[in-house]
Amino acid sequence: MIITIDGPAGVGKSTVAKLLAQKLKYSYFDTGAMYRAVTYAFLKNEIDIDDEISVINFLENSFNYEIKEENGLKFYFVNNEDVTEIIRSNYVTDQVSLVSAKPFVRKMLVPMQRKFANDKDMVCEGRDMGTVVFPNAEIKIYLTAKISVRAQRRFKEYIEKHPQDIATLDKNQILQDIQRRDEKDSTRKISPLRKAKDAHHIDTSNLSVDGVVKKIIKKIKKQQKIKFAYRFVKVVSRFILKTFYKYKVYGKENVIKGAAIVTSNHVSFFDPSALTVAIDDEIHFLAKESLFKVPILKNLIRALNAHPISGKESNIQTIKEVKNILKTGKKIVIFPEGTRTDGKITKLLPGVGFLISLSKCTTIPAYIHGAHKVWPRGKKFPKLFGQISCIFGKPIRFEEFEKIDRNKRIPFILARIENELKNLEKWAEDGFKGEQP
Ligand code: C5P
Repeated sequence: MIITIDGPAGVGKSTVAKLLAQKLKYSYFDTGAMYRAVTYAFLKNEIDIDDEISVINFLENSFNYEIKEENGLKFYFVNNEDVTEIIRSNYVTDQVSLVSAKPFVRKMLVPMQRKFANDKDMVCEGRDMGTVVFPNAEIKIYLTAKISVRAQRRFKEYIEKHPQDIATLDKNQILQDIQRRDEKDSTRKISPLRKAKDAHHIDTSNLSVDGVVKKIIKKIKKQQKIKFAYRFVKVVSRFILKTFYKYKVYGKENVIKGAAIVTSNHVSFFDPSALTVAIDDEIHFLAKESLFKVPILKNLIRALNAHPISGKESNIQTIKEVKNILKTGKKIVIFPEGTRTDGKITKLLPGVGFLISLSKCTTIPAYIHGAHKVWPRGKKFPKLFGQISCIFGKPIRFEEFEKIDRNKRIPFILARIENELKNLEKWAEDGFKGEQP
């Protein structure tokens, strides 16, 4: 498992990453040290960093980077020279952001970093770990702290190593150096310092190292629990649907990658499981608040990433939640009819149109067929056998509605989805014959 920790200079990434790795018995990888080692090698060998060919040639043929570990401490070697100390000197620090901003340098280093982490349990620390190098990392952390706090930490760190310099060391200078590096690292064109959309943000200004590590471990445990429950329910649901209900999915190619709102008809308690099985990515749901009070069902829907909504359409909390889910590139399923129906598509509630208009997101219409016969409203238990299918219609891009005045947009969105759902319904009712709409 890969855990990424990104953040600006002096935020405590290394200290936190080391302690976290130690507690989890993971390896630890400081990619900043790698950029520093490369910078040192360029300086020492007088490589012109603007000369792309020389740089690539040097990295390909004359640069050997090794990390050795002794008594829990890491030592960095460039061409057999121990550079552990010198890569932290001002001589290197002053130049590293210029070197790391070069696209051809990053192009060479990123594959090396991925190779280092290959198949390992590792805490990887840097600026672009969660955004570029390991976009699929299981846990992503983004640390920040006030600049004054970061400068003070760097000052303390330096004085602990070089107490003789206390009279001459200028705190203000440290602050300015950090500021300069922040500016360079976050404004560069390639892989700038950014929080990955799905990273957890932790402000460390008022936290101890232990406090930060505890917070991260808590987040890891929570995420692992959710993931396990989701996978478990998905596997069990697939088994039940395929074995007893001949479950079939049509139009899977319409389920685009990344963020989207899936608008599905709602005919039975099977629907969330049926959609979870049909969609490869992990999905989220909006579910009526009252369902979170029904025994057993509440555990099931929680495992399936359900988020409660109260009756009010413009519920601010719901809007925020939907936006956050979509922001991280995930999909959210909404049942726009509001409640279970008897099989026929009914009028859609305006709430879904409002959410689509606000999030400017692509909509994927989904129609669940047959589940209302297997588990009709009012029945406590489903029939043991039957046939359930799920059909995904063509994605509806937001651009279709963009030109319509914002205040008049919602009825158009609703009509478009309703029409699409009715087409899918007709196709299913007619026995899935001919081309799918
Ligand atoms: O983390 P540290 O301060 O040692 O990083 C040194 C420099 O290396 C950063 O200021 C940044 O310019 C560069 N770096 C990077 N991408 C990373 C890690 C570090 O550009 N993943």
